[in-house]
Amino acid sequence: MKRNDGSPAAPAWRVPPTAGGAGAGLYVHVPFCRTKCPYCGFYSTPESGNERRWLAALEREAALYRGVFPAFDTLYIGGGTPSLLGAGDVSRLFDTLRGVFVFSAGVEATIEANPDDVDADLLAAWRRLGVTRLSLGVQSFDDAVLRRLRRRHDASTARGAIALAREAGFANLGVDLMYGIEGQTFGSWMRTLETALDHAPEHLSCYELTIDAGTEFGARRAAGTLRGMSETAGRRFLLETSALLRSRGYIHYEVSNFARGAAHVSRHNLAYWRGVPYLGLGPSAHSFGGDERWWNVRPLDAYLGAAEEGRAPVEGRETIGEEERALESLSLGFRTADGVPLATLRRRPDWEAVLDRLVRDSLVSVEGDRAVPTIEGFCVADRIALLFAA
Ligand code: SF4
Repeated sequence: MKRNDGSPAAPAWRVPPTAGGAGAGLYVHVPFCRTKCPYCGFYSTPESGNERRWLAALEREAALYRGVFPAFDTLYIGGGTPSLLGAGDVSRLFDTLRGVFVFSAGVEATIEANPDDVDADLLAAWRRLGVTRLSLGVQSFDDAVLRRLRRRHDASTARGAIALAREAGFANLGVDLMYGIEGQTFGSWMRTLETALDHAPEHLSCYELTIDAGTEFGARRAAGTLRGMSETAGRRFLLETSALLRSRGYIHYEVSNFARGAAHVSRHNLAYWRGVPYLGLGPSAHSFGGDERWWNVRPLDAYLGAAEEGRAPVEGRETIGEEERALESLSLGFRTADGVPLATLRRRPDWEAVLDRLVRDSLVSVEGDRAVPTIEGFCVADRIALLFAA
């Protein structure tokens, strides 16, 4: 059930501690980017000069949720481009968050960065503030591919940023890469992976480009001048990526995500996929409280206006019914190596026959009391989930 209520205040309820004691996740959306990448559907604005107003608004928004969530186990500063903020602004942001919220001991604190923004001083400042994990938006080590994505960095800048991060002491480094880009060959992708592996990042995200309506690429697709990757090609890229990375010691723990050992799985993202509550602050940020989710207004002006008037900058809320929750846990579960408890599948009367067929087709295996997707199964995770929808 969706409603749009202008939400004058923060929730009057409290999010209960999660089963097993895992803490909640906190996400902060930094809404600034120097330029808009043609494929990007995330909310961002090239307006600069509003960083201080955004920070002040974020402080007001955070205060509305004081005491609402259990201790946060993860913090993720994303965007947008967090690395456009100066060290002083990030320091003020951390002071605010620490002043309002409780964080678990050993909190995973991630910040996203573009390779062309980082330098030794900024990285050292983040380390001093307690950032434990850096996620670098490299996308490719092929300059021709980076030009098609209109990224501002080139491969050499990306390699330099990784080296600087290591020198600054980041021992948990994530590199984001992308395939399915016009003109990108399979060979170019495999060379990008090999270059990434030369740097032994603790985490690799390998996303197939999605062409969203509302982006420049989306408009080109609608006009017939850009095509997405075929399903066959997408499957080949994913399977070969998985085979290469697993042969080098990485765990393929979610459709698009790989970790160099269990200790380097992104706890923040895993919590999303496991249905752990999270709070999102900033324009366009989404939150999830177990029975309800809500999302903030997107335009920076609307966000600033609401926060400055003391209103929660929430655009809409929806209550999550039992059916929807079940479908969500299926679709999230089949996207991860955790899989789904068999008990969840039993909602459908012919679940055993469906499961047997998936096992015969090598898309799912049964491990104890869970149905776990195989790597082939990852390629069709969403379809598998729908097969078990009651
Ligand atoms: S891809 Fe990243 S840098 Fe490019 S517009 Fe989107 S958020 Fe900004």
